[in-house]
Amino acid sequence: MISENLSLVRENIKKACSKANRNEKEVTLIAVSKTKPVEMLEEAYREGCRDFGENKVQEIMDKYEKMPGDIRWHMIGHLQRNKVKYLIGKVYLIHSVDSLRLAEEISKEACKQNVTVNILIEVNVAGEESKFGTTNEEAVELVKSIAGLPGISVKGLMTIAPYVDCPEENRQYFVKLRQLSVDIMKKNIDNISMDILSMGMTGDYQVAIEEGATYVRVGTGIFGERNYAIKAD
Ligand SMILES: *Cc1c(COP(=O)(O)O)cnc(C)c1O
Repeated sequence: MISENLSLVRENIKKACSKANRNEKEVTLIAVSKTKPVEMLEEAYREGCRDFGENKVQEIMDKYEKMPGDIRWHMIGHLQRNKVKYLIGKVYLIHSVDSLRLAEEISKEACKQNVTVNILIEVNVAGEESKFGTTNEEAVELVKSIAGLPGISVKGLMTIAPYVDCPEENRQYFVKLRQLSVDIMKKNIDNISMDILSMGMTGDYQVAIEEGATYVRVGTGIFGERNYAIKAD
């Protein structure tokens, strides 16, 4: 099942890239494996997946131990400051930084371990009550303050678009995130880049690619529906 699903998703990514006149090498598929057992991740790994997304620190730690060392782990979930230390040196990219306090904690732990941690700023572009993320207005100031911290490097923006029936409804938010990244670049802030746009999930990744996504985060479309009731933790 995973093999067929992956072929389909990769085919769709290819189509979206050619529709948007983009090189498909610009788009990286993150297999979002939260709640899924290691056996399923191994299958995806055999099918060539090297980027995996998780939203819980404990789950990343467990899977990190069990899976091959060449995987790039992406932290895509809300992150508590007291858990930052466990992730340093293990994750390739933290997508969900939405406050200076969290960034300061990452900076502190990164300096302790003498590494630089790459992060994205999570922006709640649709302004949904239920979602984490900065507002569009706050994002610029946040990037400016984080840019001055040691051991942490801003690489771009991330958003979780609303849950909708028709993916076209989310196009406006992908456009907004991309525009925001352009606006931030124009500020010429030292030590940051806006090369990464992490946007698009199972329901809307094709539209996100058309609007400039460089990472798409696909869970259900690869691993099937999640059953939170039988989750291990
Ligand atoms: C769960 C999750 C995804 C994947 O969602 P699907 O709809 O299953 O593709 C993507 N991004 C984030 C931040 C998530 O938490």
